[in-house]
Amino acid sequence: MKRILILTAGFGDGHNAAARNLRHGIESISDEAKVEVLDLFESTYGSLNTLMRHAYQGVVQYAPTVWAGVFSVFDNPALFRRQVNGLSRLRDSLAQVLNESEPDCVVSTYPVYAHLIDDLYRDHAERPFRLITVVTDSLTICSAWYRASIDVLVVPNDETREVLIEAGVARGRIQALGFPVSLDFTLDRPQPMSAPQKGEPRRILYPINTGKKKSGRVIERLLDLPDTHLTITVGRDAGLRAELHERFRHQPDRVRVLGWTNSMPKLLMSHHLVITKAGGAMVQEALAGHCPLILNQVIPGQEEGNARLVEKLGAGMVVEKSKHIAAAVEEAFADKSKLWRRWQENIQKAGHPDAALRVAELALAESHHGSREPRSVKLFEEPAAPPAVATPHPHKPPAAKALLCDFHIHTNYSDGRLALPEVVDFYGRRGFDCICITDHVADPRRLIGRMGELINLTIPYAQLEEYFDMVERERKRAWRKYSMRVMTGIEFNKEGFTKKTSGHLLGLDLKAPIDPALGFVEIIAQIQSQGGLSVAAHPHLLKSEWGKNTLYLWENQELFAPIIDAWEIANRNNIFTPVGLKRFAFLANSDFHKPKHIYSWKTLLHCDNDPDAIKDCVRRNEHVALTLYRDGLTGEALRAQPRTLPLRASEIEALPAKLFGAPI
Ligand code: ZN
Ligand code: ZN
Repeated sequence: MKRILILTAGFGDGHNAAARNLRHGIESISDEAKVEVLDLFESTYGSLNTLMRHAYQGVVQYAPTVWAGVFSVFDNPALFRRQVNGLSRLRDSLAQVLNESEPDCVVSTYPVYAHLIDDLYRDHAERPFRLITVVTDSLTICSAWYRASIDVLVVPNDETREVLIEAGVARGRIQALGFPVSLDFTLDRPQPMSAPQKGEPRRILYPINTGKKKSGRVIERLLDLPDTHLTITVGRDAGLRAELHERFRHQPDRVRVLGWTNSMPKLLMSHHLVITKAGGAMVQEALAGHCPLILNQVIPGQEEGNARLVEKLGAGMVVEKSKHIAAAVEEAFADKSKLWRRWQENIQKAGHPDAALRVAELALAESHHGSREPRSVKLFEEPAAPPAVATPHPHKPPAAKALLCDFHIHTNYSDGRLALPEVVDFYGRRGFDCICITDHVADPRRLIGRMGELINLTIPYAQLEEYFDMVERERKRAWRKYSMRVMTGIEFNKEGFTKKTSGHLLGLDLKAPIDPALGFVEIIAQIQSQGGLSVAAHPHLLKSEWGKNTLYLWENQELFAPIIDAWEIANRNNIFTPVGLKRFAFLANSDFHKPKHIYSWKTLLHCDNDPDAIKDCVRRNEHVALTLYRDGLTGEALRAQPRTLPLRASEIEALPAKLFGAPI
């Protein structure tokens, strides 16, 4: 088995995107390789030990000013060296990671790591792994990228390769494989867009990542052009989204306003043009998606190189001022789209939609140069096959094992802090057996005119399909990598003016979106018709700093108790005593929004690790236990300590009494 360690950094544009996409690439072509992505500068999320967390804390305070892409420092060897010398704690952390993980190949998407590795192996004869650096910039390449001893430098394009050769880098060390863009560009590759015929819509994608104030005016100017249809994305700016939505609501056929999206590849592949700033990842994705660009902002430094690349390739245009955007679009489509056709032709030659796979192949090939004996190490360890549970049920044949589960988890699709793949890795590394992603979807009728800011903390109904696709993809990865089940869920929020008219309902293991504007009874029916579970989320009074109480389902339990599959008896640190007293089927969940929420109530199920068995176990609510998750408590550790599993029938019966201190 080969181990590949990918090092990244969260500042600047594109390092994380390149690292993440490369990992997907490797995982999609090899079952043999173990691959990890690590950001030693920023988010280590508990996968590292205490020493490294401390190192991380030290660096982060120091990092933003020094490392946020300060080009002059990077390009000046003396200054750069002084800064790298100052990173002794980061270097120690890196040494420890390399020692523990024993990678066969290290891929860095950030220039600093290669220098730290040089330092670490300065006095030693030979570095025991291959080192690849994936350069995320084009044309304007600061020398820090290549001054270290790197086996292979991967660059985004031939033009950049020429620049490096000019700068003295050995030809044989450079491979122009492309920037590792999302695999979406290779997976569902559509036909290239054809030029719009007369009367056909010109589809323009406008991710507003700069010049927000002027964006309304830009859109108006674009709409003055005939047959122009716009897809606007505003990221997480709820105010802007509401404003644009309001301003252009009279033209719903021509203007579509989206919030934050994971489907930029799909959007790029289905539009004629994209208007964007010259950020590295976006420019590379547009090239991969064969979508010509109009660049409306170029920040000196890396972005200059990206802008020059677009001009050099003849794949679009740079405009000086936002008021020139509409004119540029008009020019592109003038004379039967003459200019646009040329851009399209050039871009098809230039884009590298499959770069993540090509770089993945390179990393796999390089990892075979390593000569180490494989050894089990912590960083790459797969969860071991669980042993049979030691305390079988006295009356019924025991299920294979007890499963550590969390059925209430938010990602940054709604108001969670981590992205979906990060959540999966976060739980997978902790040995969870089954999780359900439950991002918020709000009832649109309850949001109009008020709570506008909430819109951005929920998934828009139009984006639900994308959400389902993404969870489905992560489901496969999680099973392959961690033997962890991932289910798709939704938290349906209905916000009233009072706590008694507000309710949150979880739908677990859903197969398709459900209209959040339906009433709860109908939503429950639809959940169940999909084979899913309906769960009342935090149904009783919360004792917490953030929580708004949501008592609607509880207050109407005559109606809901017969149809709801289970009630949260515990949510994060809250235990709802009255729910236990009702003898409703219960579950305990994190309501996870950020890493520290992991230390909270969880559910243990004594059943097979199979979605139907899990749901059945919840419905029947036999062999269900609560546990308070603490450090070091993994599914595996739990299984190794049978006393933490009170799974005898008598013990389960006694559970609520134990918890609430009174017999029921
Ligand atoms: Zn909730
Ligand atoms: Zn929630």
